[in-house]
Amino acid sequence: MIDLHTHHNRCGHATGSLRDYVIAALDKGVTVLGLSDHTPMFAEEADQALPPVAMPKSEFPSYIAEALALKEEFAHSIEILVSTEADFFQGRMDPYSKALGSYPLDYVIGSVHMFEGHDIFDTTRWENIEDGELAAVKGRYFRAIAECARSGLFQVMGHVDALKGNHPKLGAVPAPAAADEMLRAIRDSGAVMEINTSGNTKRCGGWYPEHDLLERAHHFGVPITFASDAHVPERVCDQYPEVVRVLHDIGFRTWTVFRRGTPRTLSLA
Ligand SMILES: [Zn+2]
Ligand SMILES: [Zn+2]
Repeated sequence: MIDLHTHHNRCGHATGSLRDYVIAALDKGVTVLGLSDHTPMFAEEADQALPPVAMPKSEFPSYIAEALALKEEFAHSIEILVSTEADFFQGRMDPYSKALGSYPLDYVIGSVHMFEGHDIFDTTRWENIEDGELAAVKGRYFRAIAECARSGLFQVMGHVDALKGNHPKLGAVPAPAAADEMLRAIRDSGAVMEINTSGNTKRCGGWYPEHDLLERAHHFGVPITFASDAHVPERVCDQYPEVVRVLHDIGFRTWTVFRRGTPRTLSLA
């Protein structure tokens, strides 16, 4: 079992210490665990620009140091990968490259959380939107993810249709041209797409991405990895067996993990 996407209490909206996530992973028989808490807002002036969203910039060195110490301590029982989930802001990523470049990260997850001026999970965002506009919005979100992939800064693309999180209608709306453009961009960038089971903690339920997108990803040869996006230790590897079954039925046979930026495939089951 692998899980490349987990958080912990430093971000301000998750519970449990890094060690709690490692212990939870060991209890479940996880063999590769990625610690990937939210990256500080490196493009902002303030040390902690968004307190409940991400840790202060000044806290990041101790996050990495603690993760590396756990990697060492548990090296004989579990492979711990050290990572972070960064927000993608088009044209504003230089402070991120600079800040992250000095750490021995195994991979970086690139996610689009802020989109067209709103947090994607902000429920008020959808109050005045007509159903007829949804396909276009979804297409624009997929194009933002494609830009995120093309930036070349990330190894894993986070929850690629999370826009539906708190507006479930966005899940079923088809946006095939933009979806295919996004999937090709991910594949061509050398990154992988995560299958993220945290949709179950939002109104949409289910996983990111939709089944249809997983089938398209397989068609285009996009590699995949597993992500619980756990914000509580108990959710580590949440629904892993169900995900493996579905992916196997679609035709996937491998996961991809990263060690110091180098991809390595592992058998799906
Ligand atoms: Zn979070
Ligand atoms: Zn995220």
